[in-house]
Amino acid sequence: MSAPRAVIVGAGIGGLCAALRLAQEGWRVSVFEKAQALAEVGAGLQLSPNATCVLDRLGALDALRDAALEPEATRLLRARDGATLALMPLADARARWGGPYLFAHRADLQRALLAAAAKVEAISLGLGVEATGFSQTNENVETHFRKGASRFSVEGDVLVAADGSRSILRRALFGAPAQALAMSRRSAWRTLVPAARAPEMALRPEAALWLGPGAHLVHYPLRGRSFVNIVAVVAEAARPDVGPFWANEADPRDLAPHFARFDARARALVAAAPSWRKWRLHDRAPLTRWVGGRVALLGDAAHPMLPFLAQGAAQAIEDADALGAAIASIPEPQAALRAYEAARLARASRVQQASRAQERVCHLAGAPAAARDVAMRLMGGARLLERYAWIYAGAGLTASSAP
Ligand SMILES: Cc1cc2nc3c(=O)[nH]c(=O)nc-3n(C[C@H](O)[C@H](O)[C@H](O)COP(=O)(O)OP(=O)(O)OC[C@H]3O[C@@H](n4cnc5c(N)ncnc54)[C@H](O)[C@@H]3O)c2cc1C
Repeated sequence: MSAPRAVIVGAGIGGLCAALRLAQEGWRVSVFEKAQALAEVGAGLQLSPNATCVLDRLGALDALRDAALEPEATRLLRARDGATLALMPLADARARWGGPYLFAHRADLQRALLAAAAKVEAISLGLGVEATGFSQTNENVETHFRKGASRFSVEGDVLVAADGSRSILRRALFGAPAQALAMSRRSAWRTLVPAARAPEMALRPEAALWLGPGAHLVHYPLRGRSFVNIVAVVAEAARPDVGPFWANEADPRDLAPHFARFDARARALVAAAPSWRKWRLHDRAPLTRWVGGRVALLGDAAHPMLPFLAQGAAQAIEDADALGAAIASIPEPQAALRAYEAARLARASRVQQASRAQERVCHLAGAPAAARDVAMRLMGGARLLERYAWIYAGAGLTASSAP
C-alpha cells in the first residue's frame, strides 16, 4: 500500500512546518504556493519556546540559530520618560520550557524550513501555483489549481489549507460569512534600521516595549545585531492605502506625531529609520470549526490574530505539530483531522482573544495607564512573565493555568 498523501496549500511558516511534520509520519506531501519565488519578505518574528521546541523536532532550529538571537529579557518602558517598569527574564527559557526564546527574521525562518524540506524526498514544492478550490468525497479530496493559463487538480487523502488570513479555501469550506476579517482601528508600521544608525540601547539583547497613550513601540536587534527591528503600532483611521499586507510604503512624516510625547530616545530611534511599511491590523473572532471532512485549516487561515502577544507564527507551528500527532495516532484521515481540531481550536482561540486583550493594556492613557504602570512595577518582571507561561509552555499546560 502506498503512503497516504497530503496536499498543502501555502508555503508560509504554517504550510512548511505542516509538510515537515506530516513527512515525519511517513506521509507524501505536495505543497503548492502561489508566489513565483519565496523571496526575502517580512521582518522580525519573536519565536517563543512553544514554537522553538517544535522547530527543533522538525530539524529546522539548528539552521536558524546562526541567524537568530537569543534575548536576555523583555523590557517594559514608560513612553514619556523611558523609565523601566519591568524586566521579564527570558534567558532561562530553554531550561524552563524546553526551547529557547528567539528573535529571527521571517525570511530566515522560511529559509531554514525550506532547507529542512529539501532534504526530505517525500516533500515536493510547486511555486507559482494558485489553489482555486476543492471537491471532496468520502474517499479523497481533489484540490483545483491554476498555473498561468493551465488548470489542473491534485488528489490527496487530506487537504491542509495554510493559505493565510485571506484564505480562499476557508471560504470554500465554510462559506462567505466566515470570511470577514475584523479590521482594527490601528496600523502597524515596520522597519529595519541598520545597527550603525541605531542608538546603543536598541542593540541590547532584549526586546523593548514602550507603552504610550494610543501608541506603542517594540524594538529588538536582529541578524547578529546588524539591524534593529522596529514595530510601531498607532491609532490611525483606516485609509484605503493601508491594506492588511506587508507591501505598503509609508511616509515617516505621518508617524512622527504619534510619538511626539515619547522619550527622546524613542523618538530618535523612530527618526533613524530610512523607510517604513505599514498595514492595518486585523484579526478574526475565533472560528467554531477548522475542519470539514478531509480539509483542515491551519495557521492564519484558521486563526488570524493581532500581533500583541507575538504568537501568529508560533500558533501556526503548534498547529503543524498537533496535526502530525493526530495523523500519527489515528489512521483514518477524517477522524485524525477532527482530533487535530479538538486538540488545537480552544487553545488557539484563547491566544487570539488574549492578543486582543493585550492591545487594550498596551494603549491605556491617563489614570488607567498610571495604575497599570504601578501594578507592573509592583509585580516585577518575573511575575509578569508568569502571565504568559501558559502560552510558552505549549499545549502541555492545562486550561486551568490559562488566565
Ligand atoms: C509576506 C509575509 C510577510 C510576513 N512578515 C511577518 C513579519 O515580518 N512578522 C510577523 O510577525 N509576521 C509576519 N507574517 C505573518 C506570519 O508569518 C504569520 O502570521 C504566521 O507565520 C502564520 O503563517 P501562515 O503560514 O499561516 O500564513 P502566511 O504566512 O500568510 O502564509 C500563507 C501562504 O499561502 C500562500 N497562499 C495564499 N493563498 C494561496 C492560494 N490560493 N494558493 C497557493 N498559495 C496561497 C501565500 O502566498 C503565503 O505564502 C508575514 C506573512 C506574510 C505572508
